[in-house]
Amino acid sequence: MLRCQNPYSSVVVAGHGPADFREADVCAVHKANLGSGANWDFCGDHILMDQDIAPALVRWSELPGMGTHGFTLVLEMAGRTAPIEMFLTTTDAISLALFLYPSSGLTLPRDLVDAFRGEDDGDSD
Ligand SMILES: [Zn+2]
Repeated sequence: MLRCQNPYSSVVVAGHGPADFREADVCAVHKANLGSGANWDFCGDHILMDQDIAPALVRWSELPGMGTHGFTLVLEMAGRTAPIEMFLTTTDAISLALFLYPSSGLTLPRDLVDAFRGEDDGDSD
């Protein structure tokens, strides 16, 4: 555990398969925090928690665009007073969605990918 000076008392194992298997020693306090649902991640051989992990998304909203086709995306993060705002064109928004979707661990629906690409390659499988 990054920054932790407590004596280690157990081992945390993580990963989705042999390719990304990780393990790290943790103290009793952090072991309890991990078990209680606190966000955590690995960075190299260290576990990140608390101030070392990126702030969690609390809420998002959009401000409709009146000019260029698109909208302003507003992201409110835990521990930040000012939200992050960014203008996304329609294409940017779809690209970002397609980029983020696989991170959920789900497979992109083929229809969604095809619709975004706007391709009809004649392959009717
Ligand atoms: Zn600890």
